[in-house]
Amino acid sequence: MQKERIALVTGGGRGIGREIALELARRGCSVALNFSRSEKAAEEAAAEIEAMGRKAITVKADVSSAAEVKEMFAFVASKLGPVEILICNAGITRDNLLMRMKEDEWNDVISADLSSLFYCAKEALRPMIKARWGRVIAISSITGLIGNPGQCNYAAAKAGMTGFIKSLAREVGSRGITANAVAPGYIETDMTSVLPPEVREAMLKNIPSGRTGTPSDVAKAVAFLASDDSEYIQGQVIAVDGGMTM
Ligand code: NDP
Repeated sequence: MQKERIALVTGGGRGIGREIALELARRGCSVALNFSRSEKAAEEAAAEIEAMGRKAITVKADVSSAAEVKEMFAFVASKLGPVEILICNAGITRDNLLMRMKEDEWNDVISADLSSLFYCAKEALRPMIKARWGRVIAISSITGLIGNPGQCNYAAAKAGMTGFIKSLAREVGSRGITANAVAPGYIETDMTSVLPPEVREAMLKNIPSGRTGTPSDVAKAVAFLASDDSEYIQGQVIAVDGGMTM
């Protein structure tokens, strides 16, 4: 990373978000780690960042709440300064076949995975426009590209994120801001640890790289998109999936 930038990673305490936060810190960023439940994990990740000699803070907020997101941005600005790199990583799954899917399962996923991007990007934008520099990176999913049985809610939210990012890129792309999405494939985290072994084996057969992904695979792509080196990459969806969806 060129300059000491200020990054906010939603869901930065564990899984992919944690690795993104650490990678950005390794490349020189000050990092705000958002969590909703995993306070201890977020504090441990922040301590790891501080041990690298970088600044880190933790901030509790449910990103599916516009009011909590607003407070989160005000808190981060008061502690570190305005967010220059926004990573919308927080997400949940509530899988069910459509015939059985409850309204709550639909609404919870749309709120946590998609509305959160609307709330966060809206809060982040004004200072980015003023500074004529900014990075908005959404962690979507290959499910948003190719669909998955049992995930109509999640696929709709993740595809919604990419449509949002492309529109945002068209709105603010001429102001030194880039908006891009990363679509991870099968990444080993708590989210995928609940999948049965036969699902894992079936997935593996469809991964040309011959292995599942790690949070670090995703974090490195995100760190590149967050850097100055990616300034002409705009409105893209980069699959980090070992070739699964090529
Ligand atoms: P995990 O289940 O391991 O972690 C989810 C993260 O999201 C946690 O840090 C959690 O924080 C946070 N989070 C969830 N809901 C909220 C909320 N309402 N407000 C604030 N934070 C919240 O997931 P992964 O690390 O695997 O996934 C990270 C992202 O990557 C997600 O968007 C996921 O959809 C996406 N993804 C993952 C893939 C995979 O194979 N693992 C594949 C494709 C996409 P807390 O514990 O504090 O609630």
